[in-house]
Amino acid sequence: MWIQEIELFLIEQSLKIPFKTSYGIYEQRESILVKISDENGVFGFGEVVAFSEPWYTDETIKTALHILQDFFIPTLFKNHFNHPSEVANHLNQFKGHKMAKAGLEGAYWDLYCKYHSISLAEALGGNKDEIPVGVVVSIDEPQKMIKQISDYLAIGYERFKVKVSKENDFEIVSSIRQSFPSIPLMIDANSSYSLDDIPQLKKLDQLDLLMIEQPFGERQFIEHAVLQKEMNTPICLDESIYSLEDVQIAYQLEACKIITVKPGRVGGLSESLEIHNYCMEKNIPIWVGGMIETGISRIQNVALASLAGFTIPGDISESNRHWDQDVIIPEVTLINGKVKVPKGEGLGVEVDEERIRRLSKKIYKYTIQK
Ligand SMILES: [Mg+2]
Repeated sequence: MWIQEIELFLIEQSLKIPFKTSYGIYEQRESILVKISDENGVFGFGEVVAFSEPWYTDETIKTALHILQDFFIPTLFKNHFNHPSEVANHLNQFKGHKMAKAGLEGAYWDLYCKYHSISLAEALGGNKDEIPVGVVVSIDEPQKMIKQISDYLAIGYERFKVKVSKENDFEIVSSIRQSFPSIPLMIDANSSYSLDDIPQLKKLDQLDLLMIEQPFGERQFIEHAVLQKEMNTPICLDESIYSLEDVQIAYQLEACKIITVKPGRVGGLSESLEIHNYCMEKNIPIWVGGMIETGISRIQNVALASLAGFTIPGDISESNRHWDQDVIIPEVTLINGKVKVPKGEGLGVEVDEERIRRLSKKIYKYTIQK
């Protein structure tokens, strides 16, 4: 397939409920949506999940736009690709900028699947018809968090992740545990601890948590290994994992027992597949993470989570967790506590392009020069 046209939509939406992490509060969310069309007019959509500020990884909306416009898009027009993994390999001539790569590669997966009349889940090798999902509760007063969890339990969510910071971790999580003694509960500290906090972290062992996500900094594999030896609760690495190689390092060092896979963070679905296959071989439980994304990335994550190795419910909440209205039809919803894996070709949902154009602050359009 020759890529004929690429459009980038810079959109901005208000979150229904402000989202608070150990880094700060989010009320608005900018996103870059990508549309790639081939010479026959077949098109696919992808999403760059970078945030506006570099708090989660070093990429931002602005760095992604720069790299896409000045490097990635021009080179895609010059080359012929038969499979999305070829797009990923080609973009890997450039260092870093994984989320920008994943946005393009994701759109190409959708296009590729439509071209071959198969669903994304099928193309990736997924074998589940529906998936259980988890939800993230952001930092708030304990009583409000408990109320949120009880509402989410009633809808059917099966795994609960609480964002904490080291000032309030035990207080918040122990009061949640008292109200819900047996729910699958985990915490995400987004790198807010250091080695000095090991005694404090060890106290959390008594709360029977499913896992603790990313207590230390992203390159602190050795420190995570020290902590994992001291704790019974499994450590899960998120920000540390940019590639299969990082998973191999974590495994060799015994730095964690669980891995979260975010296609954006690792450069796309092709790399996510390699991580999935490696983790299945090594018996490392994995799950699909979330990025406060639109339905495009969300439904892509549903397809990925339909693979056999994803044994822990992912952060794939309903569209209405963050948005009044999503950019896909139908939106992601829970039916009897599960999300159905779309069977239609490509993403298997309709992308509401009219809505995307309305939400766009800026639209950039590039066409092949012959
Ligand atoms: Mg995380």
